[in-house]
Amino acid sequence: MIVMITSEQSTKVDKMIKDNCKEKIYRPSMWRSVPCSRKAVKDGFCKQHHPDSIKEREEKSKKEYDKKMKSAKALAIDAAKKLLKCNGYAIKKEEGQ
Ligand SMILES: [Zn+2]
Repeated sequence: MIVMITSEQSTKVDKMIKDNCKEKIYRPSMWRSVPCSRKAVKDGFCKQHHPDSIKEREEKSKKEYDKKMKSAKALAIDAAKKLLKCNGYAIKKEEGQ
């Protein structure tokens, strides 16, 4: 079946594509990149792919990472302290015997 589209429709499609975000997204299931289907809101990018939002997201995730690393370090120090306490207790008990 051949679908005929009028030039008016074609212009509409072109405009739709042009209004879309410029970003290409890699789709592993398709083994290729496809254009982002979201509407461009600023500088030809959608809200998610605008360089400003990407930067903001990266900063946020870096902060989260730092926070996680800090709490992981605190946990490790805590665990080490507990371990030392345990050992100290064990040693004292042995001395007392
Ligand atoms: Zn996008």
